[in-house]
Amino acid sequence: MALDIPPVREILSHRFQVNSTLCPLCNQCTESATHLILRYQQVKCLWFMSPWSLRIDNLNLANCTDFLQFMLADHGNGKDLRLLLYASLLLEAILRGRN
Ligand SMILES: [Zn+2]
Repeated sequence: MALDIPPVREILSHRFQVNSTLCPLCNQCTESATHLILRYQQVKCLWFMSPWSLRIDNLNLANCTDFLQFMLADHGNGKDLRLLLYASLLLEAILRGRN
C-alpha cells in the first residue's frame, strides 16, 4: 500500500489501457490508494465511526506512507492492535467494495 501497490485505476492506467481513472465509488476523483483510504468522503465517515472517532483529515496524512506510519506508531500505550485490525478490515472492505 505504501508503494501504491493496490490495483487502483491510477496505477493500472500506467500499465494498461483503462476506460477511466475516475473512482468508481464517487466518480469525482482519480482512483488512487490515497483517495480510497484517506480522501473518499464515505471512508472518512467510516474512520470517524470507528471506536477512535478518527477525523482522518485532521491527521495531516498526505499519502499512504503517512497513513501506514500513523497506523504503526506508538500512540502512547504501545501499538493499538485493534486499530490495526480495524484499518485492515476497512481497507479490505474498501478494495472489495469498489470492484
Ligand atoms: Zn471516490
